[in-house]
Amino acid sequence: MALTTVRVALRVRPFNEKELKETHQTDNLITFVPGQPQQISIDQDRRHFTFDYVYPSHKSQADVYQSCIQPLFDQFVNGYNATILAYGQTGSGKTYSMGTSTTADFSSEHVGIVPRFADNLFDWIKCQQNKPDNNTQYSVEVSFLELYNEDIIDLLSVNNKNASITIRENANGNITWSGVQEERIQGAADLLSCLSRGSTARTTASTDMNASSSRSHAIFSVSLTQHMNVSVENNDTIAKTLQSKFHFVDLAGSERLKKTNAVGDRAKEGISINSGLLALGNVISALGDESRRQQQHIPYRNSKLTRLLQDSLGGNSQTLMLACVSPADTNANETLSTLKYANRAKNITNTVVLNQQ
Ligand code: ADP
Repeated sequence: MALTTVRVALRVRPFNEKELKETHQTDNLITFVPGQPQQISIDQDRRHFTFDYVYPSHKSQADVYQSCIQPLFDQFVNGYNATILAYGQTGSGKTYSMGTSTTADFSSEHVGIVPRFADNLFDWIKCQQNKPDNNTQYSVEVSFLELYNEDIIDLLSVNNKNASITIRENANGNITWSGVQEERIQGAADLLSCLSRGSTARTTASTDMNASSSRSHAIFSVSLTQHMNVSVENNDTIAKTLQSKFHFVDLAGSERLKKTNAVGDRAKEGISINSGLLALGNVISALGDESRRQQQHIPYRNSKLTRLLQDSLGGNSQTLMLACVSPADTNANETLSTLKYANRAKNITNTVVLNQQ
């Protein structure tokens, strides 16, 4: 058992065409502090923030993968759970970074985290299988869920809209999901095909509900099971199983939305924020508060998002929050709010256990 804090990475995307027209680029909203690669300051109120990783807009997808995802991958194949939560306003680069878009190009330098992970995983398995004396059997399964308010949609199931999923805590205190469609896959191409199929179902489901998929959360999960025989004393062997999960979470856009169904001046006043993100924020605050943590007053049960992700926040997982922001001063308020949210996540301690039987 080991204690580990939630790690936070900040990624600033390049200016888009609209911002290039509207923004005074000389007034850089975010300043990178020379000699302090983990620090930034935001000019809006000259506040400084320090994160575990900071990626200015010129950093590539490969840079991000190598520095902050590869260490999680290494833990995952050794039997530990991992989670990446992509957080930020719509258009800040969450889907680009995760590589989960329906139109993602899986063959260029723009390839995102999940397709890189797929190659990494199956290359690793092949390399292990080629080692002499390796008797381990590997099995990989994926699932893909979407949460829209409190509805769970199973993106890999044919009856995806009526998903009846039960979330339980098992005897070891780990969270288990039952009723989720899990597909056994044999290679990176299978993983990408499940990813594309689910991403397309996500777009279709939100169109049917007359909603934007940026208001829903998507959880793509990969489970790795490793059955092996380990030599012990007297030339005996015992069977051992390692089972680990990796959740890739593309959270709903964090912006406060003006209510579009209200009319007149009141429409401008009305703001709403996604209820799952609100619940996630409350869990993050509670976990950062020593006394509430000790009394175990963590409001996981207030939303399905926090219940599904209970292991990832304060539980048995190595977790990274990837906070994505726009570089433009026109988005200053949303960027500051993302920085503050991400800053609070740094206070969370998880208890990581080797998942071995
Ligand atoms: P979100 O998922 O947060 O709504 P997207 O990932 O869809 O945002 O990004 C919005 C647009 O910005 C997309 O066209 C995407 O290709 C582009 N983009 C985002 N981040 C980067 C980046 N680091 N480099 C190049 N283009 C990016």
